[in-house]
Amino acid sequence: QAKADGRNAFRFFDPQMQQLLAERLKLEDDLKQALSHSQFVIYLQPQLDDAAKLVGAEVLLRWQHPEKGLVSPLEFIPSAERTGLIVEIGAWVIDQACAVLARWEKSADTRSLTLAVNVSARQFHRADFATEVGKALSRHGVSGERLKLELTESLALENVAESAARMQELRSMGIHLSLDDFGTGQSSLYYLKQLPLSQMKIDQSFVRDILTDPNDAVLVKTIIGMANNLKLEVMAEGVETEAQRAYLREHGCTLYQGYLFSPPISVAEFERQFLAAPLAATANS
Ligand code: C2E
Ligand code: MG
Ligand code: MG
Ligand code: MG
Repeated sequence: QAKADGRNAFRFFDPQMQQLLAERLKLEDDLKQALSHSQFVIYLQPQLDDAAKLVGAEVLLRWQHPEKGLVSPLEFIPSAERTGLIVEIGAWVIDQACAVLARWEKSADTRSLTLAVNVSARQFHRADFATEVGKALSRHGVSGERLKLELTESLALENVAESAARMQELRSMGIHLSLDDFGTGQSSLYYLKQLPLSQMKIDQSFVRDILTDPNDAVLVKTIIGMANNLKLEVMAEGVETEAQRAYLREHGCTLYQGYLFSPPISVAEFERQFLAAPLAATANS
């Protein structure tokens, strides 16, 4: 096709690329505005144990865009990572999570719940990351045990020695570490063994076809076995049906998260739906 274009064959800026570039710049600009205009909001998705008892929630970021409405993190996290804005956004998410935990601290029913926050590589690899998380905890008077950080395999294995040291630093503050999207990366058991993890999360892509794709079934069973061997908790994400949950439970999974229980919802909605009445009544005060 380029050849047919004749003298235009060596154009550097075809209109399509130019438009993509413009959109990207606009998004980056909008992201900066989003922080200063308080357009970010956290949603919570419940996490349950075997007995269907609530154990906590995952914190999932949303962008309340003035024109586009609620924007998924899949659409803006990559851009935030590229520009480095993720450091500031990520710190804000951790602060918000600590604020919620501080409120939950006040009631015996909610005092033991944990919140799991997703962390980007760019955030995690900053030398002051653990210190900043510690500051957020003390600012809100929350103990580290209540906070869980979700890290990906690629993040953890990028520089194993440095990652292990950083993770140790976080662990020493009581913070729990969970390996997110497990099975999608290239983890070596040898390296994983050296990391102070508390939990593995089975990626939803394996859970989705667990009953129909024998390969996924084998993978999930292997992951659960691996987690058990490493003495780690194992949580399944993306559980949508009772049949999936039953299968997972039968094979030794003990923690669940997914649309079967609830999609991610606002904090106020979460407190209304899942927490005891007294707390829900004060949720917005
Ligand atoms: P993730 O950490 O693996 O989160 C799980 C994603 O699966 C969430 O998408 C959640 O809404 C979705 N999900 C939960 N249950 C089900 C289910 O039963 N079926 C299906 N189909 N999906 C389900 P979401 O909220 O769009 O977030 C996407 C990703 O964005 C997250 O994947 C995480 O990697 C990233 N993310 C979200 N919040 C943050 C954040 O605060 N910081 C960073 N760095 N990344 C974030
Ligand atoms: Mg996650
Ligand atoms: Mg995940
Ligand atoms: Mg995922």
